[in-house]
Amino acid sequence: MQTDFLLNHTTSLAQATPPLRVAVIGGGPAGLMAAEVLASAGQALSVQLFDAMPSVGRKFLLAGRGGLNLTHSEPPEFFMKRYGERSEQLQPLIAAFGPNELRAWADALGVETFVGSSGLVFPKDMKAAPLLRAWLQRLRNAGVQFSMRHRWLGWAEDGALKFASPAGEVKVEADAVVLALGGGSWARLGSDGAWLPLLAERGVALAPLQPSNCGFEVAAAPGRAAASAGWSEHFSSRFAGQPFKSVAISFTDSRGRSFRRKGEFVATAAGVEGSLVYAVSSLLRDEIAAHGSATFQLDLLPDRTPEQVLAEVRHPRGSRSLSSHLKSRLNLDGIKAAMLYELLGKDDIADPLKLAAAIKALPVRVIATRPIDEAISSAGGVRFDGMDAQLQVTTPAGIKPPLFCAGEMLDWEAPTGGYLLTACFASGHAAGHGVLSRLGL
Ligand SMILES: Cc1cc2nc3c(=O)[nH]c(=O)nc-3n(C[C@H](O)[C@H](O)[C@H](O)COP(=O)(O)OP(=O)(O)OC[C@H]3O[C@@H](n4cnc5c(N)ncnc54)[C@H](O)[C@@H]3O)c2cc1C
Repeated sequence: MQTDFLLNHTTSLAQATPPLRVAVIGGGPAGLMAAEVLASAGQALSVQLFDAMPSVGRKFLLAGRGGLNLTHSEPPEFFMKRYGERSEQLQPLIAAFGPNELRAWADALGVETFVGSSGLVFPKDMKAAPLLRAWLQRLRNAGVQFSMRHRWLGWAEDGALKFASPAGEVKVEADAVVLALGGGSWARLGSDGAWLPLLAERGVALAPLQPSNCGFEVAAAPGRAAASAGWSEHFSSRFAGQPFKSVAISFTDSRGRSFRRKGEFVATAAGVEGSLVYAVSSLLRDEIAAHGSATFQLDLLPDRTPEQVLAEVRHPRGSRSLSSHLKSRLNLDGIKAAMLYELLGKDDIADPLKLAAAIKALPVRVIATRPIDEAISSAGGVRFDGMDAQLQVTTPAGIKPPLFCAGEMLDWEAPTGGYLLTACFASGHAAGHGVLSRLGL
């Protein structure tokens, strides 16, 4: 009898203790993953996810449009190198929730993945929408509450979170906060980088946001006025939007960092963009910042040796024009041949040695990145030296309630290939666990 009373008494006490409240702000992959980890604490926590947009995961859905590249299957030692100077900081996060865990997680949501060409990992149907749908359903079932159209505006004087909502400005109190607000590209999908000044005001260590995996503007071709940057009218009107297929880019920056890879990219109205350019973009961007421009070498025929190319260029051409000669001997025509005429002076074109050398290593000078809004991702953000190992922000004055950050808003960058999403999921997972341990759960 007495035991029953005690049991009932304890149960009603437990029921009377209100759950701790965690606010997750930002409903991209990083925020949703943090919410999922937090929801695993059950009744002890109330997890509320806020997003400025009418629905979550908009960039994730866009990523799915071209085939959602979730992660990469290469061995961890190669995988981690893709994070360059931040591989050390991201290593423990990705060791805890990396490519294998991500694939198992998707599988548990009913989305099987496969390893495609070059080791890239995709959902079998290549899409993001079914995965997001199943995930949101599971989060709702686990008790996560969603507040859409809530734009975070910073903190009120009493430490409460301030949001602009359809009902006007609202204040929300929380025992811990996870920010997963994304980087600074594709602002129309929600990630506009407007959080930077809010965090700067509170003394959070930040690196400026910069475009990553981005396109570039080319310098004026030799012989044209420097002010008229971009392609000539002739080249731009005929070739903007056309791809350079089966080419290679080589670049070594002034710090000795080297890049060489075969692939494809596209000519734009005034420059270059596309996967091969994105892959070298962080080196080019940093070189432009340091020296005003960066010059990469374009190999128009990476499957031929310099000797083979020279032999074909020198082959007697009789009365044929140089263009038909290049086409018949080297299969060089279209945008590739046009690029030679665009960037080489008449004398160099007429000199077989110089022409052959240019076909294998045509210098292309770029002078500016395209705007951050057009980039696939951004570099910069909340610095790792301003956070502890669990991604809790540490400032000299301290931030209350405890603040954790995750996803692309952290100061790391990576090439395309599934590395971006992997680090977003991994850091969301780490921040969720960071909150649980901070709250003693
Ligand atoms: C075209 C394209 C294709 C891509 N394809 C791939 C790919 O195949 N593989 C890959 O690995 N990566 C890909 N990426 C990159 C990847 O989508 C991003 O790195 C990832 O979505 C970032 O996740 P996140 O959770 O950090 O931020 P986001 O997904 O950007 O989410 C941030 C959320 O925060 C919200 N938010 C921002 N500010 C506020 C505020 N003040 N108040 C409230 N809410 C706010 C936003 O509305 C948004 O919902 C692609 C990106 C683009 C643009």
